[in-house]
Amino acid sequence: MADSEQRTTCVSCREPIQHGALKCPHCRTLQSKAATWAIRLTPWLLAVFPVVFVGLILRREFRNPPDFAVARERLKVVQSTAHYADAGAKCGPTISVVGTLRNDGDIPLKDVFIEVRYFDPAGALIDAEGQERYSEVVPPGSEVAFRVSSQAVRAGTEYASHRVTIISAKDARSAF
Ligand SMILES: [Zn+2]
Repeated sequence: MADSEQRTTCVSCREPIQHGALKCPHCRTLQSKAATWAIRLTPWLLAVFPVVFVGLILRREFRNPPDFAVARERLKVVQSTAHYADAGAKCGPTISVVGTLRNDGDIPLKDVFIEVRYFDPAGALIDAEGQERYSEVVPPGSEVAFRVSSQAVRAGTEYASHRVTIISAKDARSAF
């Protein structure tokens, strides 16, 4: 009886072992609660760590979504002119807009997405073309020229007016 009181079972293989033994002599598993929990939790911690890491990155991204809107608002279309060109039968007519943008903010901007909308004499939207200027950085206070062109789907007289919109722009200091 006294003997059985001094013995316990291994937490892993369930073989009888000396009470208070640090390691099981049969399977060499550590017997202390802290060591057992550490061993049990390790795979979970290894699994959770990348999830937390990715979560922190995403949280940083989601905390800064206004970057796109704020960055866009700092860009102003200084001027723009539309050109309709009858390039001949080979390429067909083209419609293009040439203009300049200015960064009125205090941070450098990149990945500027420009959209040009074309309207007929009645003011109806008849055509649109988008363009993203990847990686080109627009420093604060500076102006860049742009040209957005596409195949014209209507006759020249239908392109009565146009509007240039900055759809998005990114903070060039961000890694994303
Ligand atoms: Zn054991």
